[in-house]
Amino acid sequence: MLKWLQRQLKDKVKGSNNYRKAQHEIRKLHEYIQNTRREFHFLTAHQLCSGNVGMIFAEDLNLVALGRGMLAKHCLDAAWGSFLDILKWVSWKRGVYFAKVDARGTSQTCPNCGTDTGKKELNERVHKCDACNYKTDRDVAAAQVVMQRGCTAVGQTVVLAVEDGCLGAPAKQQTFKSDLGKPAL
Ligand SMILES: [Zn+2]
Repeated sequence: MLKWLQRQLKDKVKGSNNYRKAQHEIRKLHEYIQNTRREFHFLTAHQLCSGNVGMIFAEDLNLVALGRGMLAKHCLDAAWGSFLDILKWVSWKRGVYFAKVDARGTSQTCPNCGTDTGKKELNERVHKCDACNYKTDRDVAAAQVVMQRGCTAVGQTVVLAVEDGCLGAPAKQQTFKSDLGKPAL
């Protein structure tokens, strides 16, 4: 729709009535998109704060750096930065602790044993650690690392699952279905 309107605008004579009309339509659509996105962000933030949630940690991504990289469109379109601002506010409103944590290497660290498992390609959807055999969805693994960093930052002792002895054979305990592309939660 936006592309179509922009094409319409190009065909109009600059400064003409029709040009201004088309310009107005584009502005209206932009506003509509922004409002819809904002509503969605508030809704999502409230959902995240629902239940028995005590704290929320988010990756403090460098949006400018990402903006130049291959993730640019994905991240900027999703308006991650403005979502985090909204999430921060909603968390505060609802008494949930919110903090951003260092995002460096979250997708390369094994949440189970802390080993650096190296860079993953974007299409590599599974985290698999050769050191401890831990296997899970890559986004789940990254989220677990984010949570550990957050807990460390607020002064809670983080015991890696493998140290706790509860993940002796993690590969078998995971109910992760790779064919779905999403972890079974
Ligand atoms: Zn590991």
